[in-house]
Amino acid sequence: MSEHERNLIHLPESLKKLTLNKDLSKHLKRGHLWIFATNIQESQLPFGIYSLEYKNETLGVGIFQPNSQLRFRILFLNDIWYFKKNNLKKSLEIHCQFCIERALQIRKGFDLNKTNSFRLINGEGDGLPGLIIDIYNDTAVIKHDQPEMEKVWHHQNLARTLLKNLPQLRNVYLKRKNDTKEKGQIIYGTLPEEVIFLENSVQFSANIKDGSKTGFFLDQRDNRNLIKSFAKNASVLNLFSYTGGFSLFAAAGGASSITSVDIAASAIQAVERNFSLNGFKNKQINLAQDAFEFIQISLQNKMEYDMVITDPPSFAPNEKVKPQAISAYTKVFSDSIRLVKNNGFFAASSCSSHISHAELLEIIKESLAKTKRKASVLYCGGQPVDHPFPIGMEELRYLKFYFLRMD
Ligand code: SAH
Repeated sequence: MSEHERNLIHLPESLKKLTLNKDLSKHLKRGHLWIFATNIQESQLPFGIYSLEYKNETLGVGIFQPNSQLRFRILFLNDIWYFKKNNLKKSLEIHCQFCIERALQIRKGFDLNKTNSFRLINGEGDGLPGLIIDIYNDTAVIKHDQPEMEKVWHHQNLARTLLKNLPQLRNVYLKRKNDTKEKGQIIYGTLPEEVIFLENSVQFSANIKDGSKTGFFLDQRDNRNLIKSFAKNASVLNLFSYTGGFSLFAAAGGASSITSVDIAASAIQAVERNFSLNGFKNKQINLAQDAFEFIQISLQNKMEYDMVITDPPSFAPNEKVKPQAISAYTKVFSDSIRLVKNNGFFAASSCSSHISHAELLEIIKESLAKTKRKASVLYCGGQPVDHPFPIGMEELRYLKFYFLRMD
C-alpha cells in the first residue's frame, strides 16, 4: 500500500455522516477526541458509528451518543489506513487488535510474579473510547462506560484477542453497572467467587461481580507503594479504605497499627480477608462505619495518628456541584489533618475528573490554613502507566494524590 493510499480514508458507503457546525479540526489535531452537543447539529440520529464532516471534508470517524452532552467520541482521525471501504466490522476488529497489542507493550514491564493485576485498556488513552479492560491474575474484566458501547466493542472479538495475547487468562467476564438487572456475563471460562491476585507482591482478593468498578482500584498502585515506604512503626488511619489497598501496603511496610474505615460492610470484610491472605500480624482495627462520623468522634476523643490517608469517593460527579464538592473536600481534608501528629504524614487523594490537579492543591492549602498547620509536599502523584490519557484530554487525568509531611 502506497503512502498516499495509507493517508486516504475510505468510508463504507453505509457509514452515515454527521456535520459539525464549527471547524474543530485544530481542537482534534491538538489531541482532544470529544465533541460536545453544542457543536453537532443532529440529535435525532441513533447511537452508532458515523463519519465526521466539516464543509464536505471528512475529519474522522467516531461514535455518536445521542443522549449525552458528550455527543461524539473520535475513534480514528482521517489519517488511519486500515479503515477500508465497506468493512466497518473488520476495521473495528483490526483496530481493537492493534490497540490491545500496543497496550500490552506498555504493560509488559509488570513482573507477573509480583504484579499480575493491571489495567490493559484505559478507554481513550489506549485508543478504544469507553472501553475498560482490567486483568486480575487469570481473569479479564471488560467494562463499558456507557451500556451502548457493547454495540461497538464486541465482547466475543475482545475475548478472542485477549486469549490470544495473554496466555495466563482462563476467564473473561463482561461487567455491567452494579445497579443493572443483569450485572454481567461470562464470556469465557467461569467467574470464581473471589479472584486472588498480586500487586507488588501483596495478595488481594477481589469480588469482581459485586465489588466497585471492576473489583479493585488498580489506579492507586504507585501511591500505595509510597505509603509502604513511609509506614514503618507508624499508626496508620486509612479513611474510605474500600478493601484495604492502602492498609495492606502500610502493613507490608511495618506499620504498628492500621485502622481502616469504610461505610460498606462488604469492603471491611474484604480488608480482613486480605490481611489473612497475606498473614500480616500488624495490629488492625477494621470499622464498617461512616467515615465522617468516625472523624468527628476521633476529634472529640483527641485521637492522633502518625499517618492519615483520605481517599474519599468522588464528591464532584458533574460540573454543577463543583462548589459544594470543593467545600466537602476542604472539610474532610482539614478534619483529617487535625488527626495527624506533628511530623506525621497526610495523604490526600481525589478521583474526581472535575477537580484538576491545581484545584486539589488549592483545596489542600485551604484545608491546612483552616487548621493553622503547615506542611511540605513530599510527593504529588496520580494514575500509573497502565492508566494513560491522550495528551489533549486533561479531564482524563482524573487521579490526584498528594503526600505531605506535617510540620
Ligand atoms: N482507597 C481505596 C478506594 C476508595 S473508593 C483503595 O485504594 O482501594 C471510596 C470508598 O469510600 C468506597 O469503598 C466507599 O464504600 C467508601 N465510602 C463512601 N462513602 C463513605 C462514607 N460516608 N464513609 C465511609 N466510607 C465511604
